[in-house]
Amino acid sequence: MESILDNKLYEAFATASEYVYIYVSDFRTDLARWSKNAVEYFGLPGEYVKDSANMWQSRVHPDDKKKYMEDIGEVFEGGKSKHDCRYRVKNKYNEYVWVECRGSVITDQEDQPVLFAGILTRIDSYSKYDALTGLMKLDEFFQCELGMEQGALLLICIDEFRKIVSSHGYEYGDKVLVEFSKRLISLGEDKYSIYRFSGDEFMLVCPEMKLKGAKQLFQKISEELAVFDENHKHQLRLGVSGGVTFYPEEGREKEGLINNLEHSLEYAKKNCRGGIVVFNQEIADMQKRAQLLCEDLKNSIRSGFKGFELYFQPLYEKTTNNIGGCEALLRWKGDHIKDSCPSEFIKVLEDHGDIRDVGYWVMEQALWYQKKWQMFYPDFHLSFNVSYQQFMDENFVDILFQKVREIDADPQKIIIELTESCQVQEPESLAIAFRRLREYGFTIALDDFGTAYSSMEMLKYLPVNYIKIEHSFVKDLANEGHEIDYIIIESLLSLCKKLNCMSIVEGVENSSVKNMIEKMDVTYLQGYYFSRPVPEEEFRKMLIEAYKA
Ligand code: C2E
Ligand code: CA
Repeated sequence: MESILDNKLYEAFATASEYVYIYVSDFRTDLARWSKNAVEYFGLPGEYVKDSANMWQSRVHPDDKKKYMEDIGEVFEGGKSKHDCRYRVKNKYNEYVWVECRGSVITDQEDQPVLFAGILTRIDSYSKYDALTGLMKLDEFFQCELGMEQGALLLICIDEFRKIVSSHGYEYGDKVLVEFSKRLISLGEDKYSIYRFSGDEFMLVCPEMKLKGAKQLFQKISEELAVFDENHKHQLRLGVSGGVTFYPEEGREKEGLINNLEHSLEYAKKNCRGGIVVFNQEIADMQKRAQLLCEDLKNSIRSGFKGFELYFQPLYEKTTNNIGGCEALLRWKGDHIKDSCPSEFIKVLEDHGDIRDVGYWVMEQALWYQKKWQMFYPDFHLSFNVSYQQFMDENFVDILFQKVREIDADPQKIIIELTESCQVQEPESLAIAFRRLREYGFTIALDDFGTAYSSMEMLKYLPVNYIKIEHSFVKDLANEGHEIDYIIIESLLSLCKKLNCMSIVEGVENSSVKNMIEKMDVTYLQGYYFSRPVPEEEFRKMLIEAYKA
């Protein structure tokens, strides 16, 4: 059968690449020839297939069939010259894979169709397209040319996608992503190029788009893509947040533009979920500061914890009416950033996993100070903060014991404060660590008690000696309209008593609050009324003064 399907040219093309498949269909005989690798990979009946169009169509994913049929129909009807379509098709393992199919009709001299020839490329197999959604991967963005006129880049993310996956499962999550991508395409593929940015984030490159257009587009996406309804089973409302930046206004350098986008989306997620944030100078400054802060902190750590220092805030003991101890609080000044407060830089340390190293430094310093002050004030207690992340280090307790031995500190005079107890995910292992610490003589405090929903639960699981009542309940206690704070503090303190726990009330800022708290059953008071946290030198003077008599 020496026919048009059997020539050397075909053979040459048919073996060009493992992921590229060739087919040629003869209109007159309705016989098609498929390359051998296609027969093998898609499990076709053979190289030569009669009624190939129907055979192939039956393998196309049901969701993509309409698009496929429309495109190919238009080519056969002469509406367009080339078949060019991306869709999913079943392989021999019955798995759907994404392919890009390009084909053309070849006509004879009388303009009658003779052949339909095409090339199929498996687009999951090389990096241009994302395997799940069929959208372009971000790498492709770096290959594309941004036009000369003003355009917009939008980064869109599905809000709380992780929650969707954890409540409905991964498979369902994948369906949501595929459906969302499809809708993004149908909403305006002709107006923008779409890239899968990362898990639940999609980037749209919109040439010739200005601020108004970008906002309208985002609005449209939020409204039209919001409801996901899988076979009318469970309807899901998807929220989206977005960031937008413009070129050439914000530059043409793609890394920089992507940075802008990530920061504006991050800002949107934190500050106005469900909205879109336009990259601006304020965000740029925040971004610069965050970057500098991170570099500065790393530099400090590398240079032997340069710039870190412990400050001390007195703990007033109610029974002795004197300083009974102190809380060690971390301070830091970087080479460039000099004004970062603990809540800012400790968050960065935690986010980057550096809190463990810094935490060990704090631990060592705190033990030295305890040993030093104990010589002069034998009953003095020192507390230091340990975040949950530090406890997650399985060596934490052993290292602490080892340091205590090395320094010869007294664990009986040390209080360990567990900060951000709301993040505790494995209370059982934390309880084991706490028990070991208590057996060794340490005292343990639950910090910021009452601020997290899980506070009570923590109390149930964790063997603690102290509860620290957070300053937000305390500082305005004496002001009108804060009666509820009084009730909360009193109830928490009575709970402490019933549980045989001691208590520290922090945030005592003035004498009226001090007088009110003192009437309650409390062990220590802490706050600006007594003193702000101060450097060692100043604290030493405070101690000398307090113990003068
Ligand atoms: P925290 O453990 O709740 O520490 C008490 C915070 O309240 C301190 O803030 C202290 O300066 C502040 N404070 C004390 N008295 C008053 C008052 O009367 N009114 C008000 N409004 N605030 C008062 P600071 O030093 O900025 O520390 C913030 C947080 O940073 C700490 O909160 C703690 O969670 C964390 N932190 C500080 N040092 C360390 C550390 O060495 N390790 C870890 N992991 N976290 C630390
Ligand atoms: Ca604390």
